[in-house]
Amino acid sequence: MSYKHFNIVDKNDYALVEFNMAGENANIFSTPVMIEFKSVIETLSKSKYKAAVIASKKKSIFIAGADINEIKDLKKKEDILNATQAGQDVFNLIEDSKIPFVAAIHGACVGGGCEMVLACDYRIASDAKSTKIGLPEVQLGIIPGFGGCVRLPRVIGLIESLQIILAGKSVIAYKALKTGLIDELIPEAIFEKRIETYMADLVKKGAKKRNKVFAPTGMGKLMESPLLKWKIFSESLKTVMKQSRGHYPAPLKALEVVKKTYGMSNRTKALKIEREGFCEAAQTDVSKNLIQLYFWMENIKKRSGVGAGSTAKAKPIKSMSVLGAGTMGGGIAQLAADKGVRVRMKDINNVSLMRGFEAAADIWNFEVKKKKLSPQDFQKKMGLLTGTLDFSGFQNIDLVVEAIVEDMNIKKKVIAETLKHTGDDCIMATNTSSLSVTEMSSAHPKPENFVGLHYFNPVHKMPLVEVIRGPKTSDETTTTVFEFAKKMGKTPVVVKDGPGFLVNRLLLPWLSEALFILQDGFDIKAVDDKYTKVFGMPMGPFRLMDEVGIDVCIKVLKIFKASFGDRMEVSTLTEKFADLKDRMGRKTKKGFYIYDDAGKSTGVDPEIYKVLGLKTPTAAFDTKEIIDRGILSMVNEAALALLDDRIVESAEELDLAMIFGTGFPPFRGGLLKYADAEGLKNIVERLEAFEIKFGKRFKPTRPLVDLVNKKSTFYS
Ligand code: NAD
Repeated sequence: MSYKHFNIVDKNDYALVEFNMAGENANIFSTPVMIEFKSVIETLSKSKYKAAVIASKKKSIFIAGADINEIKDLKKKEDILNATQAGQDVFNLIEDSKIPFVAAIHGACVGGGCEMVLACDYRIASDAKSTKIGLPEVQLGIIPGFGGCVRLPRVIGLIESLQIILAGKSVIAYKALKTGLIDELIPEAIFEKRIETYMADLVKKGAKKRNKVFAPTGMGKLMESPLLKWKIFSESLKTVMKQSRGHYPAPLKALEVVKKTYGMSNRTKALKIEREGFCEAAQTDVSKNLIQLYFWMENIKKRSGVGAGSTAKAKPIKSMSVLGAGTMGGGIAQLAADKGVRVRMKDINNVSLMRGFEAAADIWNFEVKKKKLSPQDFQKKMGLLTGTLDFSGFQNIDLVVEAIVEDMNIKKKVIAETLKHTGDDCIMATNTSSLSVTEMSSAHPKPENFVGLHYFNPVHKMPLVEVIRGPKTSDETTTTVFEFAKKMGKTPVVVKDGPGFLVNRLLLPWLSEALFILQDGFDIKAVDDKYTKVFGMPMGPFRLMDEVGIDVCIKVLKIFKASFGDRMEVSTLTEKFADLKDRMGRKTKKGFYIYDDAGKSTGVDPEIYKVLGLKTPTAAFDTKEIIDRGILSMVNEAALALLDDRIVESAEELDLAMIFGTGFPPFRGGLLKYADAEGLKNIVERLEAFEIKFGKRFKPTRPLVDLVNKKSTFYS
């Protein structure tokens, strides 16, 4: 029989099943693929073969999981239950087949792929870097539903399996071997040869099936004592609650399913419990939001940063220079070298330059310690970084990223000076967080080669990069830095020039409102806790101001006030900070909080209220009001930024930027998704009430009111 996505190679005693999904870079268990796969298993089970091995013909992917497009479209309970049952049934065929099945894993084996190999009798894997095995479902708000919650704990035990399932983790092949998830780890160079000898040995030894994982006494791992099991489940629950703050239902559902099914000898019953758990998780709004986010990210990967009609092509960036080896410059240089780009760091003195090298070495050293990076690769990456105090080596570079002090005149001077030493086509980018990219580009004789490339701090961790396109920036420059940001592993969003660009423009109204909240007599820690624990922000506004630097926040607020005029009310507390130079946040060891020598917060400074001339907080707390004051301020500004000023092209990109640039809770789907879900009419009424109670800064913006009048939403 011939198949579209599979090829069965006759190896005499055994069959080699080559999975090669037609028209795709990855193998995915979509419905048509599953129908064929079922037929492959049935055919082989009835064939002359004594055993079968399943391998992938894709370069670095074994099986990437189930088709998320299909999961997204499943709405009705009955459809979800049927779809999961269909998947479970196919994998049961593997388990129940008379002949043993071997999974020969090379490349990513995740989600449905992992669930399939768990149904196989034996699993062998290559030691390639790309080989990773895991169950990332909870990251999409669902749980493993093709048998993963039931089989993984039986194969590798409760502790290891819960770590994978509840965190949505994947493990490298070496770790998979250690936990018993695979039976043999094979050097990549001899992987195909070893599959042949492994299968020959298996046949020679009688091609035996492995003990069924559902046999009540079959697996040693089922011997875990009731007390131990109870302890593992209660500790896991604590960890999940701590990490998710109860905002993500999927890990809790997965834990419940594992708890109910672990040790159960009746497979049918166990898999039914898993199906029902999957169905409940898949129907939550959280899952819908997380799946939506996944597709937004996929969309960005396909984009080029310029309009569909543009013929501009991205230029390759093989070498670059970073001006300023400080917090941001050092981070930008480290990341580029990490991705294989030669980087020349330039600073004005050796001490600063050394700091850049040290910061990069610290990040890589940490990875070496965690065994994620070999000492040889550490040396290679360090070798890509060079430093200079002059402009030597600038002649042939493709890109300069400027990350020096935040001062327009100095930046303009340095840009003009740098251009004397670079080639004509070199692209110049600024990492400024608050200055006008348009004005800065006037220092460049070819403003079409000038662009903003705004990384967030810390560079190696924050996933967003804003690409700020000035009025004269060319398509070629825009697409080049857009593709470069993607190569750096970042999610780029193209934004127009304007105060605070996109993310800071929306974030600042929240931070500014926090100062008014403080002035109104509320407790700093209690307010921060409401935003983190109740709303789900990664950090409260006061901790965040300490982190960014209170001086930096106030400076940007002043820029906003100058640009936006009266509608931008600013708390008088900002003036108090002018005399508190030693209280600028974590960098000065005190701000709203106090910090120890290691920079760790030890709690709110009890002196802070007195220092700011405030009474010790006593005001009663209305959680909803406190949260709305901050979040609706952002929504109000977002309407202007998106619909009037067109800072960003779509609601989708705005939400993506907020999630990746500020940590806006992903489970809420983004700022505008949240606003739509709350109801814009309701939001406008809230803002009007706040305007009366707190002042004109809450006046609903015209585009927001327009949406309500048109009975429209941000996403419609
Ligand atoms: P920083 O003070 O840590 O580093 C600036 C570096 O530039 C210093 O090492 C300094 O010696 C060097 N420098 C000064 N003049 C120079 C010159 N003429 N040539 C070469 N080097 C020079 O500052 P930072 O926090 O890294 O900020 C740098 C830029 O990045 C600023 O524009 C800032 O607004 C922006 N930014 C900062 C953050 C942040 O959180 N720190 C985030 C995003 C963007």
